[in-house]
Amino acid sequence: MITQQRLEELVNECAFATKQGKVASYIPKLAEADPQQLGVYWMDLEGNGMGAGEWEKRVTVQSIVKVAIFLQALADCPLDELTRRISLNATAETFNSIVDLEVKNHHRPLNPYINSGAIASLYMVSGGPEGRLQRVMDLLGKLTANDALSIDEQVYVSEKQTGHRNRAIAYFMKSTQIIDGDVEQLLDEYFRLCSVKVNCRDLAIMAATLANGGKNPVTGVCCARKSHCKTAMAVMVSCGMYGQSGEFLVRTGMPAKSGVGGGIMAAIPGKGGLGVVGPALNETGNSAGGIELLSRLSDEMDLSIL
Ligand code: GLU
Repeated sequence: MITQQRLEELVNECAFATKQGKVASYIPKLAEADPQQLGVYWMDLEGNGMGAGEWEKRVTVQSIVKVAIFLQALADCPLDELTRRISLNATAETFNSIVDLEVKNHHRPLNPYINSGAIASLYMVSGGPEGRLQRVMDLLGKLTANDALSIDEQVYVSEKQTGHRNRAIAYFMKSTQIIDGDVEQLLDEYFRLCSVKVNCRDLAIMAATLANGGKNPVTGVCCARKSHCKTAMAVMVSCGMYGQSGEFLVRTGMPAKSGVGGGIMAAIPGKGGLGVVGPALNETGNSAGGIELLSRLSDEMDLSIL
């Protein structure tokens, strides 16, 4: 579908875009990322992969982990029970919005890919404080075909020390009975999950697994139900790219999820998965170089689902 040489050329052609963005700094440790880093990995559904640029370099997964949290919540809890607490609609507000906890329906978070919705989804994962984190970590390991995933302790500590907005969101949700129990414990698990280190290949395999109906094309392991993958990708289409989700869909036609560490994964049902990493973010919080790369790849490889 694309040659190694062309993939390398594309990374070079998109390097200009990294200069149009800035690395995230609201989590202090993220400010140390390399703004010029850019890489990509393509994984098809037969398990053939190809990387270009700095695809091996790891960043923290941040919001992309919300897809794994949501998938685990879907596996552990019927959808109608889940949607009594978390709605599945797009939002015009930012990922860390507090005003977005809709007033009707007991202040439900608007979707599972904003912080409130991800924290509430994590609460719905079985196993309680002893088991929740490990369940999502195990799923993430299976989705990425990487059983050696680890947490960036410095980013984790940095977010834990400064994540007061997430604390406010979580305590507010406790007051409205969306979640219950030990809020600090739940937040600790959320901060750890956001700090898992991934590279472009991990993200591409995770995306390809979603695109393949839950069966990991590298390991052959079934990680998630096909219907759950469809639900997770549907929410990626409408809510995966923060305030740029609509424009990104028009430009690429791909379900995708980004994170403030600079990663984006894009799942193309029936075709494959793409993982890109470029820590310089545009004004909507998406990787500037990553968006440029995904737009060009969608055109060249004819990846739009529309
Ligand atoms: N850990 C980040 C936060 O909660 C994730 C945000 C993101 O990547 O959008 O602020």
